[in-house]
Amino acid sequence: MTTDRPIPDTLVRRSPWPEGVSRPLGSPIQPSVVFISESPDQLDDQYGGAVEGYTYSREGHPNADVLARKIDALEGAPEAGGGGLIVGSGMAAVSAVLMGLLRAGDHVLGGSQLYGRSLRLMREDLPRFGITASLADPTDTESFARAITPQTRLILVELVSNPILRVADIEGIARLARDRGILLAIDATFSTPRAFRPFDYGADIVIHSVTKLLSGHSDVTLGYVATRDPAHRKAIYDFAVTTGLTPSPFDCWLAERGLMTFHLRYDRAEENARALADHLATLPGLRRVVYPLRPDHPDHNRAVAILGKRGGNMVSFELMGGRNAANTLVRAMPNLAFAPTLGDIGTTLSHPASTSHRGMTPEQRAANGLSEGFFRVSVGVEDIELLKQEFTAGIAAATGISD
Ligand SMILES: *Cc1c(COP(=O)(O)O)cnc(C)c1O
Repeated sequence: MTTDRPIPDTLVRRSPWPEGVSRPLGSPIQPSVVFISESPDQLDDQYGGAVEGYTYSREGHPNADVLARKIDALEGAPEAGGGGLIVGSGMAAVSAVLMGLLRAGDHVLGGSQLYGRSLRLMREDLPRFGITASLADPTDTESFARAITPQTRLILVELVSNPILRVADIEGIARLARDRGILLAIDATFSTPRAFRPFDYGADIVIHSVTKLLSGHSDVTLGYVATRDPAHRKAIYDFAVTTGLTPSPFDCWLAERGLMTFHLRYDRAEENARALADHLATLPGLRRVVYPLRPDHPDHNRAVAILGKRGGNMVSFELMGGRNAANTLVRAMPNLAFAPTLGDIGTTLSHPASTSHRGMTPEQRAANGLSEGFFRVSVGVEDIELLKQEFTAGIAAATGISD
């Protein structure tokens, strides 16, 4: 059916936002890519920094800033640094730090157990831009000292390593970085600001994959980076904005919502992790159980000194037997998600030999303590009795299967 009535072409104009004396309790989602300014003079002032105002959302938008201020508060990010930035993923944050701050000829020194993609960036990508990288054992400050060269500009470490949960000698490394005038960047994704605040230990730069515990529901990928020095912030910001590492407003909104319950989720998951680790240690069929606060952990004393009672939500264990035993374990625990992530509100299980460390030869994995029976558990907020039952059943099913 046709009609003679014209379609009003004013529809393409943006409608005015309804006015009222009240305001929303929750943060509005602000998806607009562009912002309207009053005049060329005003826009000029915005770009020049004389007045505050958003212009184009790749350069910054309200939902990212609302989220960043919340994480700043958790981290105790120094105000002088200008506040943290939100980017599109944890790897966007790592990339913006390394590529924004380093130049051809620089050397970066990393912890040998860094997140897999951070290792790849250092080994495969940075060298294409003339930046060299090497790795050292972060539990051994002497090995870091030996790996420093006159070109070393930045050190990147994680406090708790993946997946074997070793605890870095962060005090020793921070002292070394300060004495040698080298920037210290800490990826604090695993420990979270609830357990460890890198700025208190002298870090210059703090990085998070917000994807993990901070947002906590496995429905966004986002990253965070904050600095002590505003010049570093500017270099990282300019790189991120130029290369388009921008976060989506909706993702920031979801992460803000997740972050509101972070402390509750974290405390419960940590309590569960500790209880689960102690329970696993009583079961036959396991070669070892790894949890930083257990007395048999290789870095136990350091873990207690740095983390206090905050052992985190990650537990690893090694099942006797090979791939068949590993398959049997996973199949016998249908209520736990076998998924290569961490920090979800529910417990997830990952198997480094088939995922994060599959690129290594079996011999290299063995040298790193990552046999076919090695599992990493990101403990969630479930009822602890259910978790214990599930693992007891899974491990019983897998025990006795030797290959
Ligand atoms: C997951 C993770 C990253 C990468 O974060 P994405 O949000 O997945 O890009 C970086 N560092 C650590 C320690 C991680 O666990």
